Amino acid sequence: MPKSTLDPGLTPTRLLIHGASGRMGQALLRLCAADDGGPCTVVAASARTVRQRVVDGVPYFASSELAGTPVFDAVIDFSLPEAFDAPLALALDRGAGFVSGTTGLSDAQRAALAAAALRIPVVWEANFSLGVAVLGDLVERASAALPGWDCDIVEAHHVHKQDAPSGTALALGAAAGQGGATPRYASLRAGDIVGEHTVQFAATGERIELVHRATNRDIFARGALHAARRLAGRDAGRYRLRDLL
Ligand code: NAD
Repeated sequence: MPKSTLDPGLTPTRLLIHGASGRMGQALLRLCAADDGGPCTVVAASARTVRQRVVDGVPYFASSELAGTPVFDAVIDFSLPEAFDAPLALALDRGAGFVSGTTGLSDAQRAALAAAALRIPVVWEANFSLGVAVLGDLVERASAALPGWDCDIVEAHHVHKQDAPSGTALALGAAAGQGGATPRYASLRAGDIVGEHTVQFAATGERIELVHRATNRDIFARGALHAARRLAGRDAGRYRLRDLL
């Protein structure tokens, strides 16, 4: 496999934050500015539209201006499916790492991600929290241990979330499927809920519920920043967050 151009000796890691004006983008910028979890420099930020060219020392680029962004080691993308293709193409063009948490991707976008991983190091996670990584393992084990039980995944998010079921619910469903269950999904959109996932296994007379509640977006931003730093110097390929912890 071709080697990425990332330099393992680079400190701090130079980042392009795509989707910078969004909820996750703002969390990433705040944590980076505080060097939360390790040194990094945001060399550029991008959003759908740019009202101010430089914010807190970070130059902003509209999605149509990405070709003009300075050198970076990795892109972190938390945007929307319609905005996803441009930062992936840019990372490929620059030979940089690509970290994305954007959910609701199409089959074609998933295929593009897999193709990109032949040329650059790539991390895509439906959920960048450590707790959900562990929950996925628990769900797979419970599913394998409880053949024939009903499996239902209920997720709740804030009213602005566009995709349903959530990417995390689908990833947990895939874990349940690995264990042999056939999960069903239900979604709630209410208030400002950051993210809640319940995986229920039920049989006659008994139930098990495995629950994860996110109360703060920083857990996702921290995981993505961690992944972006750890991609430095890696070969091209598809990495999971848990491989990089
Ligand atoms: P948001 O709506 O607050 O922000 C979206 C961002 O995308 C904005 O900065 C907006 O400017 C940008 N954008 C939208 N359309 C664009 C376009 N056409 N061109 C360029 N930029 C565009 O959303 P959010 O809450 O920050 O979530 C972003 C994504 O991350 C969603 O897909 C969400 O489901 C996902 N998410 C993933 C995780 C995880 O751990 N994987 C955690 C939270 C959110």
